[in-house]
Amino acid sequence: MEHAAGREPMSADVETIVVGAGVVGLAVARALSLAGHETMVLEQHELIGSETSSRNSEVIHAGIYYPPGSLRARLCVRGKHLLYAFCAENGVAHARCGKLLVATDESQLFRLAAIRETAMQNGVMDLEPLAAKAARALEPEVACVAALLSPSTGIIDSHGLMLALAGHIEACGGLVVLRCPVERLERRQNGGFRLVTGGDSRGAVSCRRLVLSAGLNATRLGRTLALGAGYRPPETYYAKGQYYALSGRSPFKRHIYPIPDGAWLGLHATIDVGGRCKFGPDLAWIPAIDYGFEAQKLGQFLDFIRRYYPGLEVARLHPDYTGIRPKLYRAGEPACDFAIHGPEAHGQNDLVALYGIESPGLTAALAIGEMVVGLLARQG
Ligand SMILES: Cc1cc2nc3c(=O)[nH]c(=O)nc-3n(C[C@H](O)[C@H](O)[C@H](O)COP(=O)(O)OP(=O)(O)OC[C@H]3O[C@@H](n4cnc5c(N)ncnc54)[C@H](O)[C@@H]3O)c2cc1C
Repeated sequence: MEHAAGREPMSADVETIVVGAGVVGLAVARALSLAGHETMVLEQHELIGSETSSRNSEVIHAGIYYPPGSLRARLCVRGKHLLYAFCAENGVAHARCGKLLVATDESQLFRLAAIRETAMQNGVMDLEPLAAKAARALEPEVACVAALLSPSTGIIDSHGLMLALAGHIEACGGLVVLRCPVERLERRQNGGFRLVTGGDSRGAVSCRRLVLSAGLNATRLGRTLALGAGYRPPETYYAKGQYYALSGRSPFKRHIYPIPDGAWLGLHATIDVGGRCKFGPDLAWIPAIDYGFEAQKLGQFLDFIRRYYPGLEVARLHPDYTGIRPKLYRAGEPACDFAIHGPEAHGQNDLVALYGIESPGLTAALAIGEMVVGLLARQG
């Protein structure tokens, strides 16, 4: 690494650098390390997974909703299988708790049927339609006219997962470097890339292959690299979601999801690995990253949740946290797929850039890792 402030330049050129130690960057780096790459992960914060990867629902999604054939559908279904196996092998806390997708009014019944059809096209064959009575036999606190049971939906300790991934990277001889913000990317004349770094790691480091997995910051960073005419990294827009935690015993054993509204899955109830219940996330488009909690939304949360959980007591709800989805479309526009840009997209050898890795990115992380290894292998 070339160091600033006139210190002796240190040779730290590595084969492959991954920028970003969220769950996706770590899963990609693990897959690269296992495939024999000398791998280094650069993370701007002092802890791994401090952004979106620690501000989500932690649900292992079954792959029910996404358009058949899309990356989100394929990587979710593949990622789910990989994730359950990884958790079992590595002692990561998780549970295949299942979820109920509930119709709270007759007008939503056709949506349940359509969602089941989409799920089957995605290879999710285990959804079970339930009449109201059968749904209430499973979850007595739920109000609904019918439901779909998804047995393969689960919950995971996302921090435990990221620690396990970092452990694998280091066991393969890779490195996760913290407090290392990458400020700018350059193409080197003799091939590969030069990354200008700031903070405690002020200087530069070079690599042969580069993976950008910078989450909310992916577009800003990707655009510092001068690429050929005709290619521009997609714009990232921000959509915040906030959660309320429910104190005391969870009223449910499974996650409870309403019928989605477009790309928004609705305010759902999730049960974490410790058995606690929370509600969220809502969806609010915001112009800049801002994790502030908006307490004035409590009334909207109550109205929404009581449609499927009429027994909700307001005194048990407490502000929890917020997270921000990196979206590749604006409010009102059709939802976009994940953008995983290899050479066919930008014409650069040895570069894979990940944009718009919103939900189900946690579930899909291990499958995204496999895909990135494949893209870099094809580049030789
Ligand atoms: C509200 C919400 C709920 C969700 N619920 C679920 C769910 O239940 N199930 C599911 O499967 N998915 C869910 N997701 C999606 C999932 O959380 C994300 O897809 C996943 O965490 C993305 O991981 P990532 O590594 O791409 O991004 P991040 O976790 O944001 O990681 C990117 C990393 O890059 C680092 N970085 C950025 N710029 C630089 C730089 N210049 N230099 C160095 N480091 C940099 C950041 O600090 C960060 O650590 C949800 C998302 C949200 C917002």
